[in-house]
Amino acid sequence: MKAELLTRYKDHTIIDMHSHFLINAFLLNKSFFVRGKTPFFWNPLRNFYDYKRAVEGGVKGITFNIYVPYFPKILGGRMGGVERFVKIFNNIISASEGKIIHCRTAEEVLGCVATHKMAAILAIEGGNIVGENLNNLYKLREYGVRMITLVHFITTHIGDAVFGREIHGGLSGFGKEMVRMMQKLGIIVDLAHATDKAFFDAIRITEAPVVSSHTGVRALKPDDQRGLSDEQLLAIRENNGLAGVIFFPWYLKKMKIFCKLDLVIDHICYIADKIGVDYVGIGSDMDSNIWLPLDFKDASYFPLIPYKLEQRGFRREEIEKIMGLNYLRVLRDCGKDTK
Ligand SMILES: [Zn+2]
Repeated sequence: MKAELLTRYKDHTIIDMHSHFLINAFLLNKSFFVRGKTPFFWNPLRNFYDYKRAVEGGVKGITFNIYVPYFPKILGGRMGGVERFVKIFNNIISASEGKIIHCRTAEEVLGCVATHKMAAILAIEGGNIVGENLNNLYKLREYGVRMITLVHFITTHIGDAVFGREIHGGLSGFGKEMVRMMQKLGIIVDLAHATDKAFFDAIRITEAPVVSSHTGVRALKPDDQRGLSDEQLLAIRENNGLAGVIFFPWYLKKMKIFCKLDLVIDHICYIADKIGVDYVGIGSDMDSNIWLPLDFKDASYFPLIPYKLEQRGFRREEIEKIMGLNYLRVLRDCGKDTK
C-alpha cells in the first residue's frame, strides 16, 4: 500500500515546516545518512527522520530547527550553542555530496525540487538565543536562518509562552522590536508557543506574513492555548500567514495518547474550512521527543497525507498548497527585500 502511494504522490512538493533532527545529531551524535530504526511508540533515543526515510516518503524539503537546550553556558553562551548547531547542519549538507542543498529562498527550494535534490531550510526554536542583543539577528541571517519561534516552553525577556508564566501580558518591548527587525531581515516570525496576547501583539505590528509552524486548532482541543483559536486563524488569513499542523497526538485532542493520522487530517481540514486552503501547512515536529499517530510511523509515511486529503475531497492543486507550496509563498513574501 505504502509503495503504491509513494508512486502515486511522488511528484508532490512535500515540505515540512518544522522538525528537529539536529537535536538527535547534537545529543546522540546521529548521522542523517544512516537509516534509523523507527521507535515502537515513544523512544527519545530513536528518530523519525533521516535522509533515506525522507526520500522514501517523497519529502522534498525539510526545515531543520536549531534548538539550544537550557544549559547554554556549557555550549559557550546561547549564540555559541547556535554556532555548534550550524556546524552540524553544514556538515550534513557537505556530507550529502550535493544531494541536500541549504536553501535560503523559495526559488532555491523549487530549484531543488526540479533537480531532484532535497532542500534544507534552517530555523530556530526559541528566540531567546539572541540574548539582549538584536544585532545577533544579522549573524543568524548570515547563517541562513529563515524562521524563528519568538518563544518556546518558558517565558523569556521576549514575551510570554503558553507553558510559562504570564509576565509581560504579551510581548515585551524587546520582543516587539525583535519582530520588526526579523521582518526587516526576512526572517519569518513563528508564533507557535506564544500566548494569545503575545500572538496578537506580534500580529498588530507585523508587516509581513507570520506563521504558527507546528500547532493544532483549539476548536478540536478546547481549553488549550497551544492550539490556535478561530480568532487567531482569521488573523492568520488576514495577515496572509500560515498555520502548520503538528503530528503530535497530545496537542491535537484532549488526553490523546494514541491516535490515527486522521486526527491530523481533521485539524488540516478544520483550518482549510475556516480560513481557506491557502493558509494551512505541515509542521510535523518530528524528532523533538514527540510520538506520532499509530499509522504514521516515520518520515517514509508522508505520502499517506496527500492520499487522505484526496479522500476528503481536496483537489491536487489544493493538496500541493497544503503539503508545501503555501510555505514557499510565505518564505517568498518574507524575503522580498533581502535577496
Ligand atoms: Zn515546539
